Amino acid sequence: MMSNFDGLTIALSKGRILDETLPLFDRAGIRPLEDMNKSRKLIFQTSSPAVRFLLLRASDVPTYVAHGAADVGISGKDVLMEYDGDVYELLDLNIAKCRLMTAGVKGAVLPKRRLRIATKYAKVAKDYFASRGEQVDIIKLYGSMELAPLVGLGDLIVDVVDTGNTLRANGLEPLEEICQVSSRLIANPVSHKRKLAQLEPILEILHDAVKKQHLGL
Ligand code: AMP
Repeated sequence: MMSNFDGLTIALSKGRILDETLPLFDRAGIRPLEDMNKSRKLIFQTSSPAVRFLLLRASDVPTYVAHGAADVGISGKDVLMEYDGDVYELLDLNIAKCRLMTAGVKGAVLPKRRLRIATKYAKVAKDYFASRGEQVDIIKLYGSMELAPLVGLGDLIVDVVDTGNTLRANGLEPLEEICQVSSRLIANPVSHKRKLAQLEPILEILHDAVKKQHLGL
């Protein structure tokens, strides 16, 4: 339908990233022409004819960017750490912050055998335990990790934690922090070269907005 669009295609995902990213783009004068939280559309025109937004599943954002279907995107560091493809990480937007953590059933004593880790962050979890000299079995899940250890699927989970309320509501407790997470602006390497003139002013405004937000301005 719009395959000959030669402006900037920006991949976003629903939820906290969208809610915290739109005000940043707003500062750059780029606003979606309709409410992205309410519409069922996946491609959105913006107030700038040279920019359009895509609305994707968070874990698909790096894939669209790596393949050039989107020029840039906003992706959580947790998602990027799991991703193997080639994207440039241009800017830490310092938004949608949380922590990747291990968690387990509150008060439970871990078995002495090789641990089983239920998670959607298979690569991060494997690397984390390997860095501590621990071999673990990874059980790959796609969501609702909190359920797994409650029904004997795995000894621990690895998941993103913000307030910890979700863990607590399910009788789990956070254990160790693997790393801090925030959203990053990523770019397709070819787009970054070819569309630099278009990208640079937006990058500058985002950079400035992040700095101001950091200073509470
Ligand atoms: P909380 O109960 O505040 O610890 O939030 C936990 C759940 O919210 C997690 O299991 C995630 O699914 C989701 N979540 C919270 N913050 C983020 C974030 N910055 N990025 C992605 N998911 C998040």
